Amino acid sequence: MKNNEINQRKTKILATLGPSSNTIKKIIGLSKAGANAFRLNCSHLNEEDLKDYVRKIRRAEKIINKPIGILVDLQGPKIRIGTVKNNQNYLKEGSLFLFDLKKDIGDHRRVTLPHKKIFSSIKKGHLILLDDGKIHLKVTSVKVNEIRTKVLQGGYLKSNKGVNLPQTNIKTSALSNLDKKFASMAVQEGVDWIALSFVQKPNDIKELRKICSNKASIMAKIEKPSALDHIDQITSLADGIMIARGDLGVELPIESVPGWQKKIIRVARVKGKPVIVSTQMLESMTSSLTPTRAEVSDVANAVFEGADAIMLSAESASGDYPVETVKMMNKIAINIEKDSNYNDILSSQLEETPDTTPDAIATAAKTLADELSSPIIVCYTESGSTGIKVSRVRPSQIILTITPIIHTARKLSLAWGVLCFLQKDESDLEHMINLTKKTVKKSGLALIGDKVVITAGLPLKVQGTTNLIRVTTVK
Ligand code: PGA
Ligand code: MN
Repeated sequence: MKNNEINQRKTKILATLGPSSNTIKKIIGLSKAGANAFRLNCSHLNEEDLKDYVRKIRRAEKIINKPIGILVDLQGPKIRIGTVKNNQNYLKEGSLFLFDLKKDIGDHRRVTLPHKKIFSSIKKGHLILLDDGKIHLKVTSVKVNEIRTKVLQGGYLKSNKGVNLPQTNIKTSALSNLDKKFASMAVQEGVDWIALSFVQKPNDIKELRKICSNKASIMAKIEKPSALDHIDQITSLADGIMIARGDLGVELPIESVPGWQKKIIRVARVKGKPVIVSTQMLESMTSSLTPTRAEVSDVANAVFEGADAIMLSAESASGDYPVETVKMMNKIAINIEKDSNYNDILSSQLEETPDTTPDAIATAAKTLADELSSPIIVCYTESGSTGIKVSRVRPSQIILTITPIIHTARKLSLAWGVLCFLQKDESDLEHMINLTKKTVKKSGLALIGDKVVITAGLPLKVQGTTNLIRVTTVK
């Protein structure tokens, strides 16, 4: 695969790092194969690991000389049961089972649920799902320190397994103390995105914003039915959205996930927020060099839907073939983007456009570039907002985004179609345009005689002011 083909791919690849990809050399390998950004999953890290990964990614970034995004994924209010005696405790369908706050080791009749808030939030009739939805229980009665349930779907109970409560709104803070610690550290380390798991309501985003302020962008992970009830507001408040199909497929009937995937992508695209499709995209490649046909279709479908980014979890973190999996994902995305239906499908999906100046400029830039057969649309951006506005309209041209700020370039690593170049800071418009023309020429993306559309916001140093459009000819 040619280098420029990888750089010009519009759908971005987010790869989770872990034991299979924890050296600078491996990180470089994944980047060269096509990973644009890396996810650090706090469920499997301590604070030292986090710092170490950030250091390695930044070192890799320097060596390959290309901006790399870092997304730190907070665990959020993830619930787990306590320990059980051995792995021989079978919960039989129809039998009774208890959750309590006692410290004793569990068995086939009871287990500790060390989250006091659940006892005051859960109601009779609610579902409790254990171990990624393998065991189903229904609540029959609730006391201050005891939840009685009946087993609907049986299975072996294992220690410390995850608990999903699809019908329960837990009256707890979206951020545990550990999340807060990780979030502060991530901000200090200068990471670009912080993702919050199990978002339930719009206020959860506001809580994280207090820690991030404007230093890191917020990705809301949609994996609770209650988040779907507030999807508009959550998308408006967050900087990006992740369709976390793993937990979403446990909390919702699994067959409703594809429909929600489409709906969430559309909400995010209308609002101009980067959207990531995640989990099990090429799962079988954790132990095989060839994906299943269904997985290839799943990746292709996310690309056809106009997702900004597609994600790898275990495939790149703990699988046998991290680099091969990224290469496969890259190949599928490039191929779909060349499909004759691709641009038409993307354009027909954007139903409404907010009537703001930046959105109108972005639409005009796309139309102008089409009319003038411009090979690229250039965005000069400091905060990244002009780049994201143009990305929102999904032009067929490459969006060459030029910024003096490395943090902006890293943040845009998850935005569809944006190829970011760094350029010296300029406060004078004509100087900026002249320098930008030189950068465009050097990039090789436009040839002498090509007309190029440039967008920017004036004054140059103010965020969200996209109000300028200029056509220039490459000389
Ligand atoms: P996780 O999130 O991998 O952190 O659980 C993604 C998902 O639930 O799909
Ligand atoms: Mn999850």
